[in-house]
Amino acid sequence: MDPAPKLTLNNGVLMDQAGYGTYKVPAQDAAPLVSTALSLGYRHVDTAALYGNEEGVGQAVRNFTDAGHIVREDLFVTSKVWNTDHGYDATLRAFDTSLQKLGFDYLDLYLIHWPCPERGLYLDTYRALEKLYSEGRIRAIGVSNFNREHLEELLDAASVVPAVNQVELHPWLPQRDLRSFHEAHGIRTVAWSPLGRGAVLAEPAVQEIAGETGRTPAQVVLRWHVQAGHTVIPKASTEERMAENLDIFSFELSPEQVAALDRLESGRRTGSNPSEVN
Ligand code: NDP
Repeated sequence: MDPAPKLTLNNGVLMDQAGYGTYKVPAQDAAPLVSTALSLGYRHVDTAALYGNEEGVGQAVRNFTDAGHIVREDLFVTSKVWNTDHGYDATLRAFDTSLQKLGFDYLDLYLIHWPCPERGLYLDTYRALEKLYSEGRIRAIGVSNFNREHLEELLDAASVVPAVNQVELHPWLPQRDLRSFHEAHGIRTVAWSPLGRGAVLAEPAVQEIAGETGRTPAQVVLRWHVQAGHTVIPKASTEERMAENLDIFSFELSPEQVAALDRLESGRRTGSNPSEVN
């Protein structure tokens, strides 16, 4: 299968529009599942210190490049600094630990996992990311779960505009305001839980469009994302689902189908509200 199209980040780095998400992928399954994803054509993998599977992710990537299937530069790996490592020095240490677990010389994208506003440290955390970026140890830096007010504060203080904000996004929670803010500032939107953890697939509108297009409900929802310009990082546990989730670039939803999915907006979250996570 062809890899996903690449989107250009605000510093010129390329990122595949579809990646493989690894939240809740157990440590012992990470290497085989990520290897399967890479064999299917995924070139973008999303992990985090929290997920406890960076070793397996790194092993799969290194095996794949060592076998000569591809050069490391053609793969894009994201990791994230966890909430308890906020702060300048702690973040530098957390990055070293993640890089060591992954077994890489550099990371493609490093994100602040949650802003944790009550800790009051995300500007210091971001300064550490800027330092690592200036040293060439990370190709792009960004944030995750930042609401508009967190981004505004960050942009006032930062010298590097975040390349990405990775947020919960699916038809129930389309994040319209945040997306326009991202567009105005050259920040790419990456959708986490793009399938609403699978639950959004049961929506009658999704099922109906799946029938109309001859595609699966997951493909319909992922196609809605990519037509809106989001990057998607669905997680799946079988080869069949992984392949299905990447096969979303050879069909198109009509404006009416997009509008029907847009009407599913309800504000329903499958995860936490970022203002309440600390
Ligand atoms: P997703 O929206 O990707 O949904 C995953 C669920 O959908 C799983 O139960 C999976 O089942 C099921 N599924 C996957 N593909 C299909 C398919 N084709 N048909 C039917 N069901 C399917 O949720 P996630 O929460 O996993 O989010 C994706 C990724 O986003 C994470 O893995 C992680 O990398 C990232 N993330 C980031 C967060 C952040 O704070 N930055 C927070 C949460 C997630 P099964 O596994 O059984 O195949």
